[in-house]
Amino acid sequence: MQAIVKDNRAPGLKVTSVPKPSPGPGEVLIAVRHAGVCGTDLHIADWDAWAQGRIKPPVVIGHEFAGEIAALGDGVTGLRKGQLVTAEGHIVCGHCLQCRTGNSHICKNTRIIGVDRDGAFAEYIVMPTTNVLTLSGIPTEVGAIMDPMGNAFHTVLTADIPGSTVLVVGCGPIGCFAVGIARAAGATKVIASDVNPKRLALAATMGAHVTINAATDDVVKTVIAETGGEGADVVCEMSGVPSALHQAFAAVRMGGRIQLLGLPKGDVPINFADEIIFKGITLYGVIGRKMYETWHQMRRFLTGGQFDPRPVITHKFPLAQIDEALTAIRSGDAGKVILEIA
Ligand SMILES: [Zn+2]
Ligand SMILES: [Zn+2]
Repeated sequence: MQAIVKDNRAPGLKVTSVPKPSPGPGEVLIAVRHAGVCGTDLHIADWDAWAQGRIKPPVVIGHEFAGEIAALGDGVTGLRKGQLVTAEGHIVCGHCLQCRTGNSHICKNTRIIGVDRDGAFAEYIVMPTTNVLTLSGIPTEVGAIMDPMGNAFHTVLTADIPGSTVLVVGCGPIGCFAVGIARAAGATKVIASDVNPKRLALAATMGAHVTINAATDDVVKTVIAETGGEGADVVCEMSGVPSALHQAFAAVRMGGRIQLLGLPKGDVPINFADEIIFKGITLYGVIGRKMYETWHQMRRFLTGGQFDPRPVITHKFPLAQIDEALTAIRSGDAGKVILEIA
């Protein structure tokens, strides 16, 4: 089968033929139809310091996908051939303290498809049935991005949203999803900031009431003015940019909450007294998707017609054009980029 492989310890990816996997007991074989390309894939292609420490070539990359069940391994019940599915890409141990207390998204033994084991940029992938979710009528191009969309659902829905003012800092694909989810979940006012006008336009399409270009306008002053002098009840920090993090702390209201998803590249100096303690705020670190609470909430928002992520999908490429897909992401102007595999 055709696959995109990280085949050596140097920059670059290879589109090549690899053996088709077969499902073991408790696993299913999935024919991939659509797959999402994300920053993680870019890190692996570029062979940056994180990739050098984590990836053991050769490995099929890709962790966001949806497709059709093509075969069942021994003992599989509750799923059938031909069903359209997606899957949680974090394969967890099931026995650590976190797994056994309902917090598998922070399992200390997590293995990620397309990172620690073969992934989804291929014609077929094998997944444990525990991780498989049926699409229930959701199209596979949407199913393919339920992983990053799930990060946005996790970020937004673990805060108190109905009737709240929400600031989304950073309007990449996950930030744009967060804008639409906050609207769907009943936020009174959604404000979005970024430095890129194309991304701000996408945030407006997804329902932001107010967009702020942080390169030219004062984010904190605008948020204070737009929230009756209080600051935002909830801030979703999706950028990881140090200056934006400080804006998040300054723009959240006293006693508000900051959901932290964006990953800063290095250390960020924080004034704990003024930025956190004296404001009485709560910080929440978002990693992955709650397993499987986030997935069930997301599937209901999608099948119920409350939230449509499709405007965020700006580019589609065939599997062989992974380099073009990565170039689109590098430009900084793209929304979500997906591969059409079958
Ligand atoms: Zn991803
Ligand atoms: Zn675990």
